[in-house]
Amino acid sequence: MTTNKAANNIFVLSGPSGCGKDTVVKCLKLMRDDIFLSVSCTTRAPREGEKEGVDYYYLTQEQFDELVETGQMLEYNFYAGNYYGTSCAELERGRDLGKVVILVIDVNGAHNVRRLYPDSTLIFLLPPSMEVLRERIARRGVTNDVEERMEIARAEIEDSINFDVRIVNDDLEKCVREVSDLIDQKMNQDKTTGGKETC
Ligand code: 5GP
Repeated sequence: MTTNKAANNIFVLSGPSGCGKDTVVKCLKLMRDDIFLSVSCTTRAPREGEKEGVDYYYLTQEQFDELVETGQMLEYNFYAGNYYGTSCAELERGRDLGKVVILVIDVNGAHNVRRLYPDSTLIFLLPPSMEVLRERIARRGVTNDVEERMEIARAEIEDSINFDVRIVNDDLEKCVREVSDLIDQKMNQDKTTGGKETC
């Protein structure tokens, strides 16, 4: 199916686990009322304090596979032992509301979204340093996979040169402002470009 829905309202925020992506988008959501934050599906167990339908849709492996096999998953990836993916339905929900859709996903997912929606914008959030990143990852209660996440982080940072914009998250307020300005800039560009529907 192909439609002429603009895709310049799709923004992907990537960056290593622990670089502050979730905090940045939470602040952005508080600051602007035009943000739709896409909730991903995952097979990983909820962390303390995480809520179903807010942080993720927590699926069994069978439920996740079913979405993939029936073409209902826009993109997905295997990360540190678990599957993560964005459902077509979730993306469409945001687009139908006419909002700025933000996907907080890993670099592989970002490139997949770019392939499907060339007008989307890819933003990469960098940690102030690798030491700070390690501390943040260790503090988050995922101590069993700190080394694995650090290794993935190094590869992701190398790949970040392929993103449209790279922002260092050393000052939260400044970082949120930069992302917000970028959204305004992009949304004010030509709004007539269409996106290709894949779901
Ligand atoms: P965490 O377990 O820390 O919540 O997430 C691990 C990684 O999976 C993060 O880099 C996060 O951005 C990524 N991720 C979350 N949701 C998705 C998704 O829907 N698709 C992809 N490709 N990656 C995701």
